[in-house]
Amino acid sequence: MIKKTFHYFFLITLLFFCFTSVDAASPNPKKPVKPKNIIFLIGDGMGTAQIYAALTTRKDNLNIAKFRVVGFHKSYSANNYITDSAAGATAFSTGSKTNNGYLAMDTNRKILPTILELAEEKGLSTGLVTTCAITHATPAAFIAHESGRNKYDDIAKWFLKTDVDVFIGGGRKYFENREDKRNLSDSLRKNNYQVVYNQDELQAISNGKIAGLLYADHPPAMLAGRGRMLEKSSVKAISVLEKNKKGYFMMIESSQIDWVCHNNAEDTLISEMIDFDNVVGMVLEYAKKNGETLVVITGDHETGGYTLPGSDIKDGKLKGKFSTTNHTAVMIPVFAYGPGAEEFMGFMENTDIFFKFRKLLLGY
Ligand code: MG
Ligand code: ZN
Repeated sequence: MIKKTFHYFFLITLLFFCFTSVDAASPNPKKPVKPKNIIFLIGDGMGTAQIYAALTTRKDNLNIAKFRVVGFHKSYSANNYITDSAAGATAFSTGSKTNNGYLAMDTNRKILPTILELAEEKGLSTGLVTTCAITHATPAAFIAHESGRNKYDDIAKWFLKTDVDVFIGGGRKYFENREDKRNLSDSLRKNNYQVVYNQDELQAISNGKIAGLLYADHPPAMLAGRGRMLEKSSVKAISVLEKNKKGYFMMIESSQIDWVCHNNAEDTLISEMIDFDNVVGMVLEYAKKNGETLVVITGDHETGGYTLPGSDIKDGKLKGKFSTTNHTAVMIPVFAYGPGAEEFMGFMENTDIFFKFRKLLLGY
């Protein structure tokens, strides 16, 4: 009897250790790994051909091509088969398809909370970095609620309503040279922001809230001498945001891929794409070391109806072609790396990206 009891005891103990060690070795598939931080990179106007053109000129060596989790999104807006950047970014920031021209509002002009505002509410840090005026449609859709994307003076006021920790781009005139004569930079300073006007001033800061208004309006194009503004600004923003133990949400936009495609300018397209890809490389290296950061890259829509009827990937020679000076409706690739990346596989709505972010980062 004693011997039998001992045998049972031994068996149960053995089973216990077997199951606990198996559990520790392989993560439970029902419990998805959650990221602490999300870095969301948007190439405005960037479709598959824009990426493939950059891959070609780089002779098959591109950071975006290192991503193993890839999906596609449908970019159409609530009122148009072809979205604009306001409705496109609103889909990502709020999970709602809206009318072209609307920022973080539904089609009835009801204000929708954005992923940035929701992250702030939960005590996470937040940031926006861009190569356009910070009041332009893509960054604006994460913080402003307007039915007119061109009301830049009104959009600037929203930066005082949400406690975004870091924002860096152009657009100083919409804060300081306004029709209502208010100086919003003074108001930002009262709210403990360090307002900086150039890259040197930005680099001198190591913590606290930052309003980086580096240009009066838009930063110049890469070919007009912007330099590594996006990369340097993004590195600085990450170093400040990562001090929050609760985590952060950050959006980095390469805005001018869209503009050069509107102009059907292939050489400037390549320079903007390579600049964006350098930022992608920096973020990917950071995420690999950090281990708790989800990186997602996509475009809001394609611009220019760009395609590659010729070219040579061995010698990097490009012969692309544009078919329109407007946006197009083609599906847009989504790339993901880090905890939760698998969620971004497959075919999705552009609005799904918001719900995946909210679930992974905020838990609902
Ligand atoms: Mg944009
Ligand atoms: Zn555009």
